[in-house]
Amino acid sequence: MTEIEKWNSHKSAALYGLDSWGQPYFSPNDNGTITVTPNGSEGPKLDLYDLVNQVKARGIGLPILFRFNGILRNQVDIIHRAFHTAIKEQNYTGRYTLCFPIKVNQQRHVVDILRAAGEQYQMGLEVGSKPELIAVLGLQNAESGPLLCNGYKDAEYIELALMSKKVGRRPIITIEKLSELQTVLDVSEKLNVTPEIGFRIRLSGKGSGRWEKSGGERAKFGLTIGEIVEAFETLKKKNMLSIISLLHFHVGSQITAIDALKVALREAVQVYIQLRRDCPNLTMLDVGGGLGVDYDGSKTTFASSMNYTVDEYARDIVWILGEACEQAGVPAPDIISESGRALAAHHAVLVFNALGIANSFSYTCNINEILSKTKHKTVTTLCSLYQELTPKNCQETLNDALQLRQDVLDQFNLGIVSITDRALVDEVFWGLLYQIKQKTAEMFYVPEDLERLAWLLTDTYFCNFSVFQSMPDSWAIQQIFPVMPIHRLNEQPTRSVVLADISCDSDGKIDRFADLKDVKRYLPVHAINETQPYYFATFFVGAYQEILGDLHNLFGDTNAVHVEVNNDGRIQFSDVVLGDSIREVLQYVQYDKNDLIERWRNSVEDAVDKGLVSAEESASIYRKYVGAFDAYTYLGSGPEV
Ligand code: PLP
Repeated sequence: MTEIEKWNSHKSAALYGLDSWGQPYFSPNDNGTITVTPNGSEGPKLDLYDLVNQVKARGIGLPILFRFNGILRNQVDIIHRAFHTAIKEQNYTGRYTLCFPIKVNQQRHVVDILRAAGEQYQMGLEVGSKPELIAVLGLQNAESGPLLCNGYKDAEYIELALMSKKVGRRPIITIEKLSELQTVLDVSEKLNVTPEIGFRIRLSGKGSGRWEKSGGERAKFGLTIGEIVEAFETLKKKNMLSIISLLHFHVGSQITAIDALKVALREAVQVYIQLRRDCPNLTMLDVGGGLGVDYDGSKTTFASSMNYTVDEYARDIVWILGEACEQAGVPAPDIISESGRALAAHHAVLVFNALGIANSFSYTCNINEILSKTKHKTVTTLCSLYQELTPKNCQETLNDALQLRQDVLDQFNLGIVSITDRALVDEVFWGLLYQIKQKTAEMFYVPEDLERLAWLLTDTYFCNFSVFQSMPDSWAIQQIFPVMPIHRLNEQPTRSVVLADISCDSDGKIDRFADLKDVKRYLPVHAINETQPYYFATFFVGAYQEILGDLHNLFGDTNAVHVEVNNDGRIQFSDVVLGDSIREVLQYVQYDKNDLIERWRNSVEDAVDKGLVSAEESASIYRKYVGAFDAYTYLGSGPEV
């Protein structure tokens, strides 16, 4: 039995790291596709490849963003369960409240699902701007959990927040800048509302990982210890210490090392303990966001990973706060966390199709055919190397081949090698490199030069998506997202590729892939053909990506489909949010459809006048243009509205 016959989806799962990052929502199956278990591994199972076909059958084109509602709900449960267990195990006397920071994903459907899932836990929401505040004021009701008002604020922001208190909401205004305190006092007096405020502490302890600069003394936000003392004195003089109910810190998103959080917690809890004695209503410590997502599954302090679990995160917070308060003889605070990424990232999966291949070499070459075409010495020498290749002479053959090719390139530049001989040299050279790479599979020890061949022999697959729109962090901050084909997993991949998007930007590509030990520079994939579409998915794109995504090249929002599955496995596409049409993206940059159509009509009419096109032809040219405004911005058939 050959290696190819023995390949199966479980080998693919190991190859792509699916076993490591996929749990508990994504796993391989015997059909060679990916099983999705939105309610956790014990819940109903869906087949991602089937889902794509079902959605396509409804006329919704790729790329498609699948949003699994069950995953959102399950993440709400996982985080709550972790804190409730830690609180119970450690006899902690405070409570836990999760507040979803909507900046992570403001999509109404997403926030609605999270809100409904969090109702049983009195989950709150966090906003960081006036537009976010206005959205949440419309969504919450009098029974909802707290409304944390963060970010820089003007009087209008504060007025809106405080007004909501009059209708039974619980806005807590976090003072990020000392000057905001006076504005809060002025507005609350004007509205005759007693405000509830928190201080964001600028800790000296930083987070860890890519966003560690969000914390520490040079952080953009928060009050220094000196400013907190000043604010405290101001309120004390006014006999208003009772309005302080919360202390908050945020050491940065995606905390990779739990130790960094522990340092910050120790500092923050001391501020709490010291203020608590004089502030009767200071009952909450908000530990901010930062709970990580293990994007590459490596469980390390690498920027796209984390060296702790959600349970450990909860246990450490509860332990540090409980112990410090007990020692100080102060009641333990209710704990708030603003975990956004950990709630939202897992639920969204972008599926896109490969459009074609750009490769610089051929995999197979017919030596006899090549030899029949030329007597050029370098070509014949390379052909001999090809025919005499064994695992033992791989390194030597590679050295010789590189030298021969370089000689031919030099000679070509001097005009002494014909273009056809140069093409034949290229053909046998790349074919030989591919054969060397194949032989390395039989070698016990693979020298570094030969290991690098896989990268050198990487093709480019063009794919129907935009990195800038759908996974901007992959481009902007080299964030790793898990990416893999979603079918043919029972077939051994034979190619190594990077994935280029359809934007006209050489940065528009994915060329860094999840790996347990290092970042992989290519993705093993299957050969594509004209007859069968080839689908990739990029996972964990539910946090930050949609809203940070931009309109580079005017590729707009993708189609998004919410997937609901009930306990007997019945699937429902509960909400379909069609992606932007060409008209919508043009409108965003101030092009008016009617104006453009009028101009086009004039040009077409001109062409008829000049006899360049017939009247009948002009009608179809005109109609084609007009019809294009309603199309999807991506390639292939667009959404049928
Ligand atoms: N809270 C604040 C104040 C933030 O700035 C952020 C984002 O960086 C968050 C919460 C959410 O963080 P995360 O998504 O890492 O949980």
